[in-house]
Amino acid sequence: MTPMEPPNEDTSLLDFPWVIVRFRCHFCRRRKDARLAGLASDFGEHTTLKLLLSAFVRRCAWDPTNPARKPQKYGRKCGAYLMDIGRTSPPDLPPSMAGLTLIEGGKDDQLGTGSPPGPKRRRVGGS
Ligand SMILES: [Zn+2]
Repeated sequence: MTPMEPPNEDTSLLDFPWVIVRFRCHFCRRRKDARLAGLASDFGEHTTLKLLLSAFVRRCAWDPTNPARKPQKYGRKCGAYLMDIGRTSPPDLPPSMAGLTLIEGGKDDQLGTGSPPGPKRRRVGGS
């Protein structure tokens, strides 16, 4: 097994190591967690992260390429970025937990199919 290459802007969906691509913006507070499979079917599996990011920027109020926006003295540009560029550990896990075999999103597993056996503490009505 080769060590994982951290994704960069030129990484294609095909080579992206995780199932969720996380888009964020510094200014407009838009955020999107897109499933890799969905992006691949919409854009094609050879689409690079850079292209996806520019598609995300185009829907931003701060899109610098939007012709409807007049240049402003203090104009801001969209601060869109991908959270996972340059990352080598799986997303959604703090680094300290990355070594665990925890499956993210396993809410159902955590709750289990029943409560563990044990004494039930319950107040029974008084006399
Ligand atoms: Zn933005």
